[in-house]
Amino acid sequence: MEKLLQVDNLETVFTKDKQKIKILHGVNFHINKGEVIGLVGESGSGKSITSLSIMKLFKGTSGEITSGRIQFNNEDLANKSEDEMRKIRGKQIAMIFQEPMTSLNPVMKIGEQLLEPIRLHLGLKEKKAREHAVSILKKVGIPRAEEIMSEFPHQLSGGMRQRIMIAMAISCHPQLLIADEPTTALDVTIQAQILDLMKQLQQKEKMSVLLITHDLGVVAEMCDRVVVLYAGKVVEEADVFDLFESPKHPYTKGLIGSVPKLGQKKDKLDSIKGNVPDPSNLQKGCKFAPRCNDAMSICIKEEPPEMNFENGRSCSCWLYKEERGRIRV
Ligand code: SF4
Ligand code: MG
Repeated sequence: MEKLLQVDNLETVFTKDKQKIKILHGVNFHINKGEVIGLVGESGSGKSITSLSIMKLFKGTSGEITSGRIQFNNEDLANKSEDEMRKIRGKQIAMIFQEPMTSLNPVMKIGEQLLEPIRLHLGLKEKKAREHAVSILKKVGIPRAEEIMSEFPHQLSGGMRQRIMIAMAISCHPQLLIADEPTTALDVTIQAQILDLMKQLQQKEKMSVLLITHDLGVVAEMCDRVVVLYAGKVVEEADVFDLFESPKHPYTKGLIGSVPKLGQKKDKLDSIKGNVPDPSNLQKGCKFAPRCNDAMSICIKEEPPEMNFENGRSCSCWLYKEERGRIRV
């Protein structure tokens, strides 16, 4: 399979009260062309910061990439200027967020917002741009597409607004769509419809998707491969079937164990004890150790290296040292 995106040793740092706080500690993963990757972990694990780093969307924040590479179509995005990134964002890589109201402009009509990237990236003029916008609205299942063009975001339901966001995101046929918790704010029925739409569009447009979510049900439904993030590092990566069938990392096991199964009583769920660590105060060794039932003495002394296994799997945990996974250098 051909690689579209390869993230290597990505480190992202934020500055707070003159203190530098590292949020990403050398993130590694890749996305093949046409593949759907799930990026999972609890909130505070670094999922959103990973996506913002790929897009270099740090405006108004103190965030900066301090090390690593983001190879996209064999170009390193980590070294691109803001001007160069503006040409890539929206055209080659598009993004949708959890709450469309925060990314849609409340005082601009839907049509104007939709036409902006179409004019900018596709260079289409008035009539052609409008036709393209209407056809995209129809593609994402918006009824009365012509009329909706002259309506404002607040006139639409949450599900409709998320469809508009998806329309904007795919309007310039991006190769990669980054979706950050795209259905979390929606109720269950609408959530299923939006996921269904995303899956259909992904297959039709042959896009790659990076789906950021804390919902493993969504992952099982949508993804080909899964990357598990903890404290700003990838702790496990596996094909979606392998991950659910035989999770390796104790954190992944905990995440899977906390998904309610059909007929299971709520008080019987094993959820993971404790909280994600404070990024400004990380301990030595494995960052999951304080929450891990399998922790050994080496775990609190030395950080486990990434070990590679069959079928493209990897896991960073001392439990697998004896299996002699190939250690990444
Ligand atoms: Fe648990 Fe040790 Fe593995 Fe960390 S390295 S997840 S503490 S067993
Ligand atoms: Mg987030």
